[in-house]
Amino acid sequence: MHTTALVLFSGGQDSTTCLAQALSKYERVETVGFDYGQRHSVELQARLVVLQQIRLQFPQWAQRLGEDHVLDLAVLGQVSETSLTRDTAFKMESSGLPNTFVPGRNLLFLTLAAALAYRRGLQVLVTGVCETDFSGYPDCRDDSMKAMQLALSLGMDKRFLIDTPLMWIDKAATWALAEALGGQALVDLIIEHTHTCYLGDREHRHDWGYGCGQCPACELRARGFVAYSAGLPKP
Ligand code: ZN
Repeated sequence: MHTTALVLFSGGQDSTTCLAQALSKYERVETVGFDYGQRHSVELQARLVVLQQIRLQFPQWAQRLGEDHVLDLAVLGQVSETSLTRDTAFKMESSGLPNTFVPGRNLLFLTLAAALAYRRGLQVLVTGVCETDFSGYPDCRDDSMKAMQLALSLGMDKRFLIDTPLMWIDKAATWALAEALGGQALVDLIIEHTHTCYLGDREHRHDWGYGCGQCPACELRARGFVAYSAGLPKP
């Protein structure tokens, strides 16, 4: 039986939904985030607010929610030239990948998370990676996750499970999953406090939350929310 989990938690919509699912599924849940010199510490700030709001609004989850860890990954800035860590504009490369892409970033995240989970005695690694809303990130694919699960379990001589609740669902279904897990209160919490926008915009408030409304992350989030809302029964 798997009863303990470590959630890779960025403070965005996806990882917040994954966290909610982990809290309804596992008895003890810890969180880990990565500080790799993001241009906007908005993301790291959002993590703390979301954790605080979950503790406040969901007492049944609060008692399962353990320590939060933030690992310093400044080294990512040394191996990448991306618009997340430098002052260049977000754009799509000819490879079809956004220039925010850091090759193998998720593999690195998972390796560090597994080392932390090993030390903390946690069995499951939960991550919000997804193949459905295709973002072009090969290290988010299901096969990559299965290979990592095997490599980490063998390499650390400990059986890890990588749990990917969003792998086969789209953004509309991710909103619906949040509603199923925590009702309107969780949907509202995600709208108000999670952060997705690549530009770090917390000025412009939309139905689906804060963001510039233009970048690919905002577009995906907005489109998903519209589709999710359209599927709701009319008041
Ligand atoms: Zn944006």
